Amino acid sequence: MAEKLYSVDYQVHSFCSHDGRSTIHAQCARAVQKGLDEIGFTEHKDFDPFDPEVDYFNYDRYRREIDEARDEFGDALKIRAGIEIDYQIWFEDKIADYLESHPFDFVLGSVHYVNRRMIMTDDYNRGRSRLTAYRDYFAAIKDSVQTGLFDVLAHLEYANRRGISAWGPYDPHEFETELLDLFACMARTPMALEINTAGLHQGLDITYPHPRTVQLFAQAGGGRISIGSDAHHPDQLAYAYEQAATIARAAGFSRVCTWSDRQLTEVQIGT
Ligand SMILES: [Zn+2]
Repeated sequence: MAEKLYSVDYQVHSFCSHDGRSTIHAQCARAVQKGLDEIGFTEHKDFDPFDPEVDYFNYDRYRREIDEARDEFGDALKIRAGIEIDYQIWFEDKIADYLESHPFDFVLGSVHYVNRRMIMTDDYNRGRSRLTAYRDYFAAIKDSVQTGLFDVLAHLEYANRRGISAWGPYDPHEFETELLDLFACMARTPMALEINTAGLHQGLDITYPHPRTVQLFAQAGGGRISIGSDAHHPDQLAYAYEQAATIARAAGFSRVCTWSDRQLTEVQIGT
């Protein structure tokens, strides 16, 4: 029998994230409507005490809403409870402690800040050149990978969201040294590289990371990928999934990752 083709969205937010614009229930209802097999929630969890949103995420509320959604949609849809950890090197121990005491199906590591500055804002760019702005960002990503705390490297090159308007067009080959070094680190872990389509619904016209970066990842021996839309609203759910699947296949990946209780299963990418 032919292997089942899977369609998934492994980066989804709800009101359990400070910037979410949907209930978990509404995201699941839309996922069923769109014929997805699996949805992975990835609410924001921040650790910087100066961040006004630091205490927003409520684990118990989240688990309760996930359980309710599983009761209602569980026959039609696999629902995974993940988390998107905002990584900064200062909070590494706190993150490790938190993950130790709060079980999730999977954990995304993402970098939005370097040295407490939001990447590629004026505040961050001041005193940096184009090269150091990107290199410092890639160095923070590498630190996050080296912790071994995460299942997925979320939205690599998210720096482009503001970086392209601040510094001009981006070509990953300019940062090939940094990227290959990063991918060599990743190769020593079971981590997956996420293809995140948010850049496409944020008007940037490229995924995070760039398709050429996904190719570079494959050439560097990168083992696995994840696909997510970063939907904060049901209208963004599984956004441009077909395009992400095409980027994955073009780089030689025919499978996408899923997780339950931090256990990885790779499934055939479907539409
Ligand atoms: Zn993020």
